[in-house]
This record gives sequence, structure tokens and C-alpha cells, in this order.
Amino acid sequence: PGASYGVLPRPCRALVLLNPQSGAGRALEDFQAVVQPMLADADITPTVFVTERPHHAQEKVQDEDLSQWDVLVVMSGDGLLHEVLNGLMERPDWEQALQTPLCILPGGSGNALAASINYYAGNDHVAKKKLLTNCTFILCKGLHAPMDLVSLSTASGKRFFSFLGFGWGFIADVDIDSEKYRRLGNARFTLGTLQCLVRLRIYQGRLSYLPAAALTGDGEPPADTLLVPLGQPVPPHWVVVPEEEFVCVYAIYQSHLGTNLLMAPAARLHDGCIHLFYVRAGISRVALLKIFLAMGRGTHLELNCPHLHCVPVRAFRLEPRGSAGVMTVDGEALACEPVQGQIHGRMCRVVTG
Ligand code: ADP
Ligand code: MG
Repeated sequence: PGASYGVLPRPCRALVLLNPQSGAGRALEDFQAVVQPMLADADITPTVFVTERPHHAQEKVQDEDLSQWDVLVVMSGDGLLHEVLNGLMERPDWEQALQTPLCILPGGSGNALAASINYYAGNDHVAKKKLLTNCTFILCKGLHAPMDLVSLSTASGKRFFSFLGFGWGFIADVDIDSEKYRRLGNARFTLGTLQCLVRLRIYQGRLSYLPAAALTGDGEPPADTLLVPLGQPVPPHWVVVPEEEFVCVYAIYQSHLGTNLLMAPAARLHDGCIHLFYVRAGISRVALLKIFLAMGRGTHLELNCPHLHCVPVRAFRLEPRGSAGVMTVDGEALACEPVQGQIHGRMCRVVTG
């Protein structure tokens, strides 16, 4: 893995995994109205698989004959791509399966990867139909490049592969609490942020990480060579954050947390980095709100807020005290428990500008 840029063949056979319930529930109509005519012009033939329930797409790609397809397109939010990725990872031939380029078309309410790819392509910030048009155009051009993934493992023995981010505290709460407003589209996050600000909470736990500068080893996958078991102390060259009270911890590996949230402006598809953000307890509501407002333009780090920290890392561990609250992987909920993760560089391929 890791060969750099490639281009989709023509004619191109695309399997489109589409969640009709994602976002405002318009993914199928938008696909037919916006995407299909553009693909026809680009000699890309879509075969649409409409998901009927959670895990349907995951099961589909687990035993799909992938030689039939030149690209796997996900038309939904980040959640469905997370399923597809983990379905591919469950295959015995995962290494080869991950060489099939993946493509995200924003159909959901959380379209962080689509917004990131639009940003990496150098396009202006757009949302909704314009973001869908931009992403479809990127698919029509057909360039694909390697993307880093993060392997996350939990104390109860679960393992996930993640392309976007891991969250705990404020942002994870906003993400999950606002799911009931999914029909508002991206506005669900604005409403959720304001609601969570009102009842701002503190989360206790220990955060440790391996700074990016300290990387020693070579190729990693599939073993998590940077990690030791969760029951053991982190290796001596790791940093243990001295404070144990947080408002939020978010490990992001793409630029965008949401369509309108440019959290890690320096992040790229295969920069080999986890951008670890944390906000220490003691921050005022006003200062926290300012951070989120500035994140619209990606200028939050310029605020020099003493409670906000951002470190490039290769691996991290989070040991929450107690199990209250929620964690998220690529925006999907996870029970709160000790978690650690490490980057695996250039593990899959994604269609990009
Ligand atoms: P959104 O951004 O709107 O949340 P996602 O792509 O994240 O969109 O999808 C949310 C969840 O919907 C995913 O976890 C997926 O498993 C689930 N899902 C997929 N198909 C269906 C369906 N037909 N009905 C209900 N849920 C579905
Ligand atoms: Mg989602």
C-alpha cells in the first residue's frame, strides 16, 4: 500500500452505498437529480445499493466480490463510510480490499470528510448542494490518493478503524445529543453546541500521547506497534497530560470536524498525524463559544486560549474516570471506557481533488 496518486479507469464501475435516511432524508433524490447526470457524462456507471438498516452497508462489503467495482461510493454522512471501512477491515483480504478507492458524497448531516476533501482540493468553503456538486465533480475527475487510518481499541476488547476522529466530552456530546435534530442537516451542530454550552460539564480522566516528533519505527499495519496493552502504563517516552479535568478531548485526522468547522487546518489525507485537541477544565462558556465561532474559519488557535491545546501525535490513550458520558468514533457513539489509538499511514485509498 501507499503508492501515491492513481486515476479511476473509464468506463468506471461504481458501487454506490446510499443511506436514504441520512441527513434531511433527501440522499436518494439528490443522487438522482445532482449526481447521476454528472456521472453519466464522465463515463461512470453507478449501481445503487440503498441501505435498509444500520450495518446493512457493512455486511454488504464484507463479502462483496470487489473485482466487480472500480470505486466504492458512499452517499450519506460520515457514519456510513465508517461502517463500510470496518466492513472491509473484517475481510480476510482486507489489505487488498482497502486498495479499492473509496469516495464520499455528502448526503448526511455530518459530512466532515466531504468538507475536508473539498478543502484539500483548494475549493472555496461550501455546504449542502454545492458541496455535493464539488464532491461529485472530484469523483468525475477520478483522482485517488492514500488516506491514513487510525486503529482504536477499547478496554472491553473492541477494535475500530477510523478515518475522521475520536471524541470525548463536549464535542462528542454535541454530536450524539444533536442526532435527534438530524433533519436540520448541519444546523443540528449549531443548536447542539448552544445546548451543551448551557450545561457545560467537566470530564475527568487521564490523557497520554506519543508526540509526532518522537516517531521511531517503520511500517506499522496491521499490528499496533506503538501501543502497549491498556492495562499497562504507557511507554516512558509518551507524554502524560498532568491535568485530569477536561471539557473535551478530540483526536482528529482530517481538517474538518463538520461542514462549517475547520478544526485542523494543517491536516491532510496522509500526513501521518493525529491532531490531538484538548480543552482543559476552567474555561469560561464565552471563551469556549469563541473557539467554536473561530473554528468556522479555522482561526481558533490564533486566539491563544490558555485552555486549548493542540498537539500532533502518532498515538494516544484516554482513560476516563468512571463510565458516564459518551465517546464517538467518526461521529458514531461508543460507550465510555479506556481507549487508545494509533495512526496507520496510507492504509486505504480515497477519491480526492
Ligand atoms: P448522518 O450524517 O445523517 O448521521 P450517517 O451516514 O452518519 O448520516 O448515518 C447514520 C446512521 O444511519 C449510520 O450509523 C447507519 O448505520 C444508519 N443507517 C444506514 N441505513 C439506514 C436506514 N436505511 N435506516 C436507518 N438507519 C440507517
Ligand atoms: Mg452520522
